[in-house]
Amino acid sequence: MRMEDGGASRSPRRYAGVDVGSTATKAVLVDEAGTVLGRGLAPTGISGEKAARRALEAAGLTDLDAVPVAATGYGRELVDFAARRITEITCHARGAFAQRVAELTLIDIGGQDTKAVAVGPGGSVRRFVMNDRCAAGTGRFLEVMARALETDLERFSALASGAEKASRINSMCTVFAESEVIGLLARGASRAGIARGLVEAVAERVSGMARKVGLLETVALSGGVALNPAVVVALADALGRRIAVLDDPQYVGALGAALLCRERSANRPT
Ligand code: ADP
Repeated sequence: MRMEDGGASRSPRRYAGVDVGSTATKAVLVDEAGTVLGRGLAPTGISGEKAARRALEAAGLTDLDAVPVAATGYGRELVDFAARRITEITCHARGAFAQRVAELTLIDIGGQDTKAVAVGPGGSVRRFVMNDRCAAGTGRFLEVMARALETDLERFSALASGAEKASRINSMCTVFAESEVIGLLARGASRAGIARGLVEAVAERVSGMARKVGLLETVALSGGVALNPAVVVALADALGRRIAVLDDPQYVGALGAALLCRERSANRPT
């Protein structure tokens, strides 16, 4: 006789994490072993909840009732279907530890916030600092400056990398720095030099945050801005350290959320 169990005992368990960021919402789906099955991204826009659904769908999760979801990020409270909500510092630490399995200083540069986290054994948070009050040292700052230089983020990074000399940027306030850029252009400064100056200004600010939490053996970078090679180089120069860009850097928080969801799931067989 065939026993019906609705397939529950046969279908492998899965867990999802969704990181509702200020700019982008990222989702990661993992299996029982913590292996990544899928990743998805959606612009956050005006509805964090809708963005979370879209990102999860893009990660390969079509039936939200079938899988526990942990929400993190600035918009985590908006995800009403989440089984649990976990702070982004905890999730980033866990996601970074999954890739390094050693103590590390994690720097995460996102769309509108930047954080530095000293990550201890097991992905525990030793210390952290976070800047979520102004755009200085974030992706948003670089986006505004790229626009002032009439270019996009990829060309902006290439311009900065190719500069022979950096123009000094004195203000980190987005509004004042944009005026400075316009003034420098009017005085004939090169776009490449200005781009380099802006990247160095970001690196200076962010490296100060990393020093505050302490530089551990590995210094790793996550967040969407980790995809900007000029920032990675400038940060390594400012810290005098090699920077390890984590795999799929924009998904580190969502990965941590998925792994913590798996570890904390009450129904998980031990
Ligand atoms: P948040 O979680 O705050 O929404 P993310 O970590 O998702 O932020 O990063 C989003 C930011 O990453 C964007 O605002 C953009 O500035 C930057 N970014 C994304 N892709 C790239 C890229 N290919 N090159 C440079 N910067 C990028």
